[in-house]
Amino acid sequence: MISVEGVQVDPRHWIGGRRISADRTFPDISPIDEVFLGDIAAGGASEVDAAVAAARSAFPTWAALSAVERGAILRRVADGIDERREDLARVETRDNGSLLRSHRRGVMPRVAMNFRFFADYAEKLSHPDLDVRGHRERITYDPAGVTAIITPWNAPLMLATWRIGPALAAGNTVVLKPPEWAPLTASLLADIAHEAGLPAGVFNVVQGTGAEAGAPLTRHPGINRLSFTGSVPTAGVIAAAAAPNIVPLSFELGGKSPLLVFGDCDLDLAVDLAVEQFDNAGQVCLGAFRMLVQQSIAEEFQARVVARARALVLGDPRDEKTDVSALVSRPHFDRVSGFVARALTGGARAVLGGGPNAELGGLYFSPTILVDAKPGSEILTEEVFGPVLTIQTFADEDEGVRMANETRFGLAATLVTGSSSRAERVSARLDAGTVWVNCFFVRDLGAPFGGNGKSGIGREGGTYSFDFYCDVKNTVFSPNGWKESSHG
Ligand code: NAD
Repeated sequence: MISVEGVQVDPRHWIGGRRISADRTFPDISPIDEVFLGDIAAGGASEVDAAVAAARSAFPTWAALSAVERGAILRRVADGIDERREDLARVETRDNGSLLRSHRRGVMPRVAMNFRFFADYAEKLSHPDLDVRGHRERITYDPAGVTAIITPWNAPLMLATWRIGPALAAGNTVVLKPPEWAPLTASLLADIAHEAGLPAGVFNVVQGTGAEAGAPLTRHPGINRLSFTGSVPTAGVIAAAAAPNIVPLSFELGGKSPLLVFGDCDLDLAVDLAVEQFDNAGQVCLGAFRMLVQQSIAEEFQARVVARARALVLGDPRDEKTDVSALVSRPHFDRVSGFVARALTGGARAVLGGGPNAELGGLYFSPTILVDAKPGSEILTEEVFGPVLTIQTFADEDEGVRMANETRFGLAATLVTGSSSRAERVSARLDAGTVWVNCFFVRDLGAPFGGNGKSGIGREGGTYSFDFYCDVKNTVFSPNGWKESSHG
């Protein structure tokens, strides 16, 4: 056991309802102060084999339960998450540096909701019968088998449970490979699920790195679905690994989303939405880091955003007053620093920040706003995944929309305007899986979520999740051939 913020966390794998010790380990380092938290099991092909075998053997019994029976267990898992909310929040904060106050208020309640919502949804899931030339077509959602889930470090428990919830509710069993930069809360989830009565083998956790534990899972012939959240380069490797087994993929990847601010907008709202992009130190896939502002208000918008962002409190994420915390790891910190340094060398100007925070040191990077970046340069086209915003200006609606869509990604787009007709026109033209109008980050779990272009493959949420996690079957009943007098 390792003790993190006073919480006991088991660093071993969880396979077939048992803790499995590891021959090898990797160190878990906290971003807050770069302190060593403990050695975590480093799985490989043999642990993945064992986890897939456990999930396969648990599948028939779990799949045979009704949605109501599965739902009762999943709601108990949600209750267990609620009971341990504070432990989960403190451990996640220590592990990946995200704000404790966000976990307490928003993230951990949503983690529990990921189980309750999909448990409820599965119970009501149905498709109306179709009728073709007197034949009745009945559409059913059958469990698909073993689901492999691979997740990133920026919101590890929320992103994992957003897939584990529907996969289990659908009747699948799961093998989770958590991120090596934030592995701890997955282990607590295994404890909670076990205590809630989830049968052995239904949910398994193989800890380890992407190359050693992730890769064998993605090429395993025993998996039936693969849900991956992470970066585009990794997605390419995973798609190739899964291809020989023809495993259906759900990919939720990166973004370079725009915040399109029109001259007719409520400027207070636009400034609020801009500053919100520094949440989680900008380590948010949906973040609207490309500010595109109509020339008529650009000067005032920039001045107000800079003033507000300058007042953000940088520091320890366990402090309720902190707004922006450390970046997740030294390699990631170096990557973000490199992007900003190259942008500045290439002619961009920092109107706020512009580099590591000298006062706090460590992995603390100052909230940064860049202007005058060279069109087409990497700071405007690549995902930085840090507290770094750029501001560009546009003359009119056509130019604004063109610039917003000038990206190989298409995860989200946010527009701020006071005109409903402009909102209709522009939102229809934006190339993104989610478009927010005068708001940000608001989404029902029933709504489709996913990205266009390089931001992903497929959609999850509500029925879209079950379309992916289930084998959707069409059974066609003929009106003829029945020996009974009537066929229901
Ligand atoms: P990453 O791609 O480096 O790693 C993600 C996961 O994949 C980790 O668990 C890692 O161990 C694993 N992995 C790495 N190589 C692998 C391989 N060869 N085979 C199997 N698994 C492998 O991404 P990251 O740095 O952890 O996360 C940041 C990225 O995630 C950003 O691009 C961000 O936009 C994206 N993201 C997307 C969403 C979304 O919902 N669209 C949400 C959060 C994060």
